Amino acid sequence: MHFIDLQAQYQHLKVKIDARIQKVLDHGKFIMGPEVSELEERLSEYVGVKHAVSCANGTDALQLALMAMGIKAGDAVFCPTFTFFASAEAIAFVGATPVFVDSDRATFNICPQDLEKKIVATLGDEKLNLKAIMAVDLFGLTADYSEIQKIADKYDLKVIEDAAQGFGGSINGQKAGSFGDIATTSFFPAKPLGCYGDGGAIFTNDDDYAELIKSLRVHGKGTDKYDNVRIGMNSRLDTIQAAVLLEKLEAFPQELDARNLVTEKYNNAFRTRNDIHIPEVPEGYKSSWAQYTLVSVNRDYIMEKLGENKIPSVIYYGKCMHDQTAFESINNSNNAFPIAKNLSNQVFSLPMYPYMDKTTQEWIINKIKEL
Ligand SMILES: *Cc1c(COP(=O)(O)O)cnc(C)c1O
Repeated sequence: MHFIDLQAQYQHLKVKIDARIQKVLDHGKFIMGPEVSELEERLSEYVGVKHAVSCANGTDALQLALMAMGIKAGDAVFCPTFTFFASAEAIAFVGATPVFVDSDRATFNICPQDLEKKIVATLGDEKLNLKAIMAVDLFGLTADYSEIQKIADKYDLKVIEDAAQGFGGSINGQKAGSFGDIATTSFFPAKPLGCYGDGGAIFTNDDDYAELIKSLRVHGKGTDKYDNVRIGMNSRLDTIQAAVLLEKLEAFPQELDARNLVTEKYNNAFRTRNDIHIPEVPEGYKSSWAQYTLVSVNRDYIMEKLGENKIPSVIYYGKCMHDQTAFESINNSNNAFPIAKNLSNQVFSLPMYPYMDKTTQEWIINKIKEL
């Protein structure tokens, strides 16, 4: 059994994907070929933003967003401690200081109340300029951007939406990737919209940011790539990956429906269990279900039993950012993140992909019911 069955998806889309890849092999424009700009157009339409700029991966996308905002050493960026390492890593990589924030118990996302608390506590630090908030759409659920934006406005901070997992989700019809000043996503194969290698994109309605990011992704280019007006990086999406994504984006809306059906079946099966907490989706929100994540005090026992039945389950994330060795030097008191800490001890994710067949899911559900 697979945790995410990418082969099932490929079998479904094989004819179209193969033809798209063959087209790239025939025209030979492997870097910045026509599929790249076609994909960027489709992505900006889908998300509902003015600009979509593709790049090499979701981590670069975050770094490019931070660079476009001019965030550097001495700046503070607030981000959740309960997230994938890349969110905080990108902040540290540009030289800035990540200031970690606790999570909301129900949504797993950055807690707006704790965010304001951490901002107020940091205001007094003369060594740090408060610059931005990086919120993460964890497991596919969009963060609470109406509250986050209010806080950002109050303290004059920029907002970055890390939609690496959130792509496809929405709040009252507004799509993930359209919140904040700049949003980013990842096309890593296991993400809701994934390619067959690394890939990423940046979304913004701001013309200046879009121009700057297009320059930064190709060695800080000016009029062309041999006219270099700033220090940038090499972070382009391969044409073959863009070709794969064009076909996968076509199928994506139906896949989201399929993911929701899988979720509903899981939820109905576990809703009455008082030792298992099913994921909560606030009114008006839609998740892209990058992960189907349960919370249980009996996590380790349940995972062990699943393992005995060859059912894969994974802990996302067993270690918060404030506990990571790489962030040891950041003075974070361990008891400042009680909810995130609890989650890291109790969460586990079950197999989740749009092409999961009924028998497979029923097998998983029955094995958990037997416990
Ligand atoms: C996957 C992920 C990233 C990084 O994306 P890559 O394409 O793997 O570099 C960043 N943030 C979050 C929350 C992610 O899940």
